[in-house]
Amino acid sequence: MPMDFLKGVSGEYDVTVIGSGLAGMTVANALARSGHRVLLLEQHYKLGGMATWFKRKGGHIFDVSLHGFPVGMIKSCRRYWTREIADSIVQLKHVRFDNPMFSLTTRYHREDFTRLLTEKFGVSQSQVDAFFDAARGMNFYDDQQLTVGEFFDQYFPGRGDIVRLLMEPITYANGSTLEDPAITYGIVFSNFMSKGVYTFEGGTDRLIQLMQKDLIKSGVDVRLRVDVEKIHVEKGRVTGVTANGQFINTRVVVSNANIKNTILNLVGRDNFSSEFVDETEKIRLNNSSTQVYMALKPDEQIDEETGDLLFSSTAPAFQTDLLLSRDITSRTFSFYYPRTRPQGRPRSLVVSSTNARYEDWAELSDEAYEASKQDLIETTLESLDRYVPGIRKKLDHAEAATPRTFQYYTRHALGASFGTKFEGLAVSRGLSSQVNGLFHAGSVGIIMSGWLGAINYGVIVANEVDALLLSKNTAQVG
Ligand SMILES: Cc1cc2nc3c(=O)[nH]c(=O)nc-3n(C[C@H](O)[C@H](O)[C@H](O)COP(=O)(O)OP(=O)(O)OC[C@H]3O[C@@H](n4cnc5c(N)ncnc54)[C@H](O)[C@@H]3O)c2cc1C
Repeated sequence: MPMDFLKGVSGEYDVTVIGSGLAGMTVANALARSGHRVLLLEQHYKLGGMATWFKRKGGHIFDVSLHGFPVGMIKSCRRYWTREIADSIVQLKHVRFDNPMFSLTTRYHREDFTRLLTEKFGVSQSQVDAFFDAARGMNFYDDQQLTVGEFFDQYFPGRGDIVRLLMEPITYANGSTLEDPAITYGIVFSNFMSKGVYTFEGGTDRLIQLMQKDLIKSGVDVRLRVDVEKIHVEKGRVTGVTANGQFINTRVVVSNANIKNTILNLVGRDNFSSEFVDETEKIRLNNSSTQVYMALKPDEQIDEETGDLLFSSTAPAFQTDLLLSRDITSRTFSFYYPRTRPQGRPRSLVVSSTNARYEDWAELSDEAYEASKQDLIETTLESLDRYVPGIRKKLDHAEAATPRTFQYYTRHALGASFGTKFEGLAVSRGLSSQVNGLFHAGSVGIIMSGWLGAINYGVIVANEVDALLLSKNTAQVG
């Protein structure tokens, strides 16, 4: 008989959260702490969504999306999760760039970037200050016509080298391009520049374990391997969900699933105005990724001078389309030293990430797909050999993930790694004005993506749901 993953589920909840990405878990935790009855449904066999990890023979644990986030994570985790989680967030000290235009190492914060821009790139102090102040002053309500490229042109015209320094890490961090609205850059870049790049000591597995413990403590009913097939709406109000074939009453649904999938498939277009459906259909998904996971033999080490994060490129100039090309010229290497998991077995690992297009992988036959993955591994090892000489001899394990892998595990259409382009944010925010009791929290609009963006968006939506439930303006269940 198949396992019943909904065994013992209550017949009614105040809130059902669909998906356990960082935004979904944060919404669930905050609302349960406020005393609401919360059900968290995740189709996968573990919590975390893209914030995930996997284990391989030899004691190796690979982190998929733990490459770096801004210092704001400390405050958000302390307030909305636990002190233990916040206290495990530590700074990455060595961020390296290596490309035909320049090679340098930086702490990746405003002070160090000011030094580099004035001393190495020859820009005046006043120009650098003006640039940082303008980036930091941007907010959601600004004119959104200005593009990232135009913004750079105002301060550093004709300086492709500076654009590369400023843009390459952010493109990796959230898929933004020179053609996206400048605020998507300004907000994310300024978050990093305030104090640098941070990571979670203990690895993603420890983080999610601590979050799971806190969810249970807060009283969230957490269910894994439960696929939500439908969100039910009657007379403009949410009434329940069908999950693993079972109907569950709920006053509010917060979907952490992809915004387009939520509207067009889980709820169904008939429940929205035709203008809203049009807006939804126009949302462009963000790009996907490829990754190569490499573990060294247990007795092999990497010199820490190699860096924590290395933006490596052989392309003569920075170009968005080159960053997405299957013909890879740019890679971000994340180096995980034994200190990443002080509690675990001492292991050295490297994860190489690139932005990628789903189309380049989608239609390949099984054979061609395997060959393309193998080629990705081989070319990545070739590139890594420049920084870790003799890597092939030191290697214990290597494997690759593609846009197809990300789509398979997270259900994000086209394997989108960072949600949607900017227009997804307005649709996500507009959901509750279309259907009473329906919300979305998760990577959208570039700004609300990444670990910090997802957690903070979860907090914003939890506050809105709390206010709605307290006003009792939702379908009463039971
Ligand atoms: C390769 C890669 C590297 C990254 N690196 C970084 C980084 O270094 N720093 C950083 O800050 N960010 C990084 N990110 C981005 C970051 O991981 C994500 O933006 C963030 O984790 C997304 O959280 P989310 O809440 O939007 O939900 P997601 O993680 O997208 O989770 C959504 C969840 O919903 C579940 N779900 C979907 N549909 C259903 C359904 N019908 N029923 C039940 N469950 C469902 C999915 O299984 C999934 O668990 C990276 C992403 C990728 C792919």
